Amino acid sequence: MLPDLKDKVAVVTGAGSGIGRAAALELGRQGARLVLVDLKDERREQVKAELAAMKAEAVTLDADLSDPVRVQWAFDEAARAWGRLDIVFANAGINGVLTPIEDMKPEDWDHTMFVNLKGTFLSVKYAIPHMKEKGGSIIITSSINGSRVFSNFGMSAYSTSKAGQVAFAKMAALELARYKIRVNVICPGAITTHIGENTHSTPELRKIKIPVQYPEGSMPLEHGPGKPEQVGELVAFLASGASSHITGTELFIDGAESLL
Ligand code: NAD
Repeated sequence: MLPDLKDKVAVVTGAGSGIGRAAALELGRQGARLVLVDLKDERREQVKAELAAMKAEAVTLDADLSDPVRVQWAFDEAARAWGRLDIVFANAGINGVLTPIEDMKPEDWDHTMFVNLKGTFLSVKYAIPHMKEKGGSIIITSSINGSRVFSNFGMSAYSTSKAGQVAFAKMAALELARYKIRVNVICPGAITTHIGENTHSTPELRKIKIPVQYPEGSMPLEHGPGKPEQVGELVAFLASGASSHITGTELFIDGAESLL
């Protein structure tokens, strides 16, 4: 158990599914009170019910992370609901449109950037006023695609957004140290979630010959693909005082996938 999570208040974005859901359940299991932010009503409510079944408290908020007005509202509402804010897991993200660069529509590029990168910036920006007095922990979900694994062709927008999150997290760790807010970024490898629902591969992509691929049978290694629960445990560790001297760090959680 991580006792110092008891009664802390945690906002989790993209909490309705996959990594966000698993992190919310783990934080709830450790005694935190949750604010579940997601676009999808049914999934948000389902996670709230799962938390209630383990006697963990949660409120749910409907917000599109790419919309500054809704994000500011969500963080103000989160702090109002529980009277404090200690932990932010800025996790919502999409793969978006996967296509060669020459076929990428500017609006599809923007959409991926707006959800993944601007959404992260907005989540941190609007959390700060509620965390700056007492401090806390912010965890951002990037990906191994932000710096290591570029054999998944068509992911120029996704990989760029994920690389941007790493740079942003490091800047935020330095800037927010004066408020005793720690900021870390996690880089998962392949994790079994619903992210495929927000992935649109174009026919143009299928025509490209990919020069670098995992050797036959080497992926998912012996370790993977990972489970969302394994990421949830890392998030709870980074949220807790057990990681009190860890900030500005990029942590890979990928069963060594990024070494292939
Ligand atoms: P998921 O699709 O299972 O869950 C993502 C959740 O985010 C969904 O519930 C969705 O409704 C929500 N969401 C999407 N866009 C939103 C928006 N604009 N506003 C509010 N909510 C929104 O996917 P996941 O795999 O759990 O992804 C979570 C994060 O993990 C993403 O940032 C993703 O890039 C990252 N990631 C995933 C993997 C993987 O293999 N699954 C690997 C590396 C990184």
